[in-house]
Amino acid sequence: MSKIKQMPAALSNQIAAGEVVERPASVVKELVENSIDAGASIISVYLEEAGISQIMVQDNGEGMDAEDLQLAFLPHATSKIYRLNDLFNVHSLGFRGEALASIGSVAKVRVESCQAGQDQANFVEIAGSKLMNQGQCAGNQGTKIEVKSLFYNTPARLKHLKTLQTELKHIIRFVQNMALAYPQIQFSLFNNQQKLFQTSGRGRLQESIAQIYQANLARQLIALNVADDDFKVSGFISPPTLTRTSRNYIHWFVNGRAVYSNQLNQVLIKAYGRQLMIGRYPISILVIDLDPRLVDANVHPTKQTVRLSKESELAKLIQDGVKACLGEVNPVPNLGQTL
Ligand code: ADP
Ligand code: MG
Repeated sequence: MSKIKQMPAALSNQIAAGEVVERPASVVKELVENSIDAGASIISVYLEEAGISQIMVQDNGEGMDAEDLQLAFLPHATSKIYRLNDLFNVHSLGFRGEALASIGSVAKVRVESCQAGQDQANFVEIAGSKLMNQGQCAGNQGTKIEVKSLFYNTPARLKHLKTLQTELKHIIRFVQNMALAYPQIQFSLFNNQQKLFQTSGRGRLQESIAQIYQANLARQLIALNVADDDFKVSGFISPPTLTRTSRNYIHWFVNGRAVYSNQLNQVLIKAYGRQLMIGRYPISILVIDLDPRLVDANVHPTKQTVRLSKESELAKLIQDGVKACLGEVNPVPNLGQTL
């Protein structure tokens, strides 16, 4: 008798969830990215207890019909890529078709969705990869996803969650990043009914920076816009007099995806050179746009690291851009503004 068997979906989904759903912030990330891919212009995130007891994401995007609602929870089910070739030319944030299947395997999920022109919304309820309930309900165009009791059936994962403050910090950082990457979308974030921030979605990056940080800070930033044949880099950087003690205020976006890159951080810091005091870091929100064929986002399941071609060319473009911006401001560091 053979010893090899294909795993049941509930088991393979949970293994995939181990990579994709590490903490409440991972759920928020996957849901918000889906809302962006669905073309939403308003995205609201409501948390209870930093997302540990509940995460709700509501959007006004294109929605799903009754059939899609069930398909969405199957592993590797996606509307975003169909052929191998599509993988090398991804224009959406998602493409692995794993998020909802993974989330549905480690939480209790209810999704309500309504497409334009439908007079009723459809809903499904999933728990532990099983369809528990489905039907029709009232609703406006878009999708509302409620994720409750995260990790209820994976106690080891639940135990590894950090404090509420730490989990909340990760979520805030993520939603802030998305609001900066998509100033044309109105984002709001609530925890235990308290509004943490809201952007206006009017498409102006500096306005979003003011709404996320402070108006006074946003006003002092310097606009940066440079391009060569392959890359376009735009956004804002702080003058050397406006710095922070942590790198958390350095934001990078590559084709709409917030990425963490120590390498890019070093490029930026090097460009400030001696204008930056030791132990201080600039504030920057820089958006890099390039041909999707030059980016490989398929490096890590969460796609927070990406591989770029022509990295040294990009580094030079950023350095020249930053130096040009700083040349236009007072080059003498002073102790004026600290955190
Ligand atoms: P992926 O985003 O990689 O395709 P997901 O598991 O995140 O995989 O989602 C599966 C599919 O469900 C998506 O391809 C999309 O068609 C649909 N979907 C998920 N969330 C939404 C949403 N908020 N609005 C509309 N469609 C959605
Ligand atoms: Mg997705």
